Amino acid sequence: MIVADRKSLQEILAMVKDNKKILIAGCKGCVTVCNVGGLKEVEILASSMKIARKKEGNDIDIDIHVLERQCDTEYVAGISDIVDDYDAVISLACGVGPQFLSEMYKDQTFYPGVNTTFFGGATQHGVWEERCAGCGTCAIHNFGGLCPVARCAKSLLNGPCGGSSNGVCEINKDTECIWDSIVRKKMDAGQLEDLIGVKGIKDWRTARDGGPRRSIREELVQGNI
Ligand code: SF4
Ligand code: SF4
Repeated sequence: MIVADRKSLQEILAMVKDNKKILIAGCKGCVTVCNVGGLKEVEILASSMKIARKKEGNDIDIDIHVLERQCDTEYVAGISDIVDDYDAVISLACGVGPQFLSEMYKDQTFYPGVNTTFFGGATQHGVWEERCAGCGTCAIHNFGGLCPVARCAKSLLNGPCGGSSNGVCEINKDTECIWDSIVRKKMDAGQLEDLIGVKGIKDWRTARDGGPRRSIREELVQGNI
């Protein structure tokens, strides 16, 4: 899933400091799972903002609405009858949400309420870790099922750098060296020879380096049936 962190209350308050009536739009997708943009978090943010603005003597009127998903125009259209009632909208979805909203409602102002960080999952309650960088050409089968693109600080594809020490990455003592894990996994499986040989240069055109990407499933495109 997409993992995000909510922006600080101070940052959000600063974004809407001149607004008197706002909508906070949550999303029932990934941001609900990682506890930043679901109904509970939307309610907490609305209450916190109202209290903060009341203390300033600058009351704010806030409504909330949690969309099924903000990355789907069908659901984004669900606020078409109310979106113009507000001075601005704060989206608590990943970065896709406020962009879909901005594209559909061109006259409204949308603020991102979260910082979108990575594709990952929960490794324990309250802890999410990155696993994928969306490179567009998955080859983790070459690395024991572990991804050096996303999990090596240098995205090395041909073994560890010189900074790996006791299984720890040189960038941070709390970060495993994924290459240490890859090598150990292949050793344990008796497949170390799979890592011998230089892997060619990765084609990064399928990653972000090739510009914004598009995925088309012809069988799903309306009119192609
Ligand atoms: S190889 Fe690419 S697609 Fe596969 S997990 Fe790593 S970043 Fe994601
Ligand atoms: S120590 Fe390991 S994970 Fe860190 S940059 Fe070097 S090879 Fe990559």
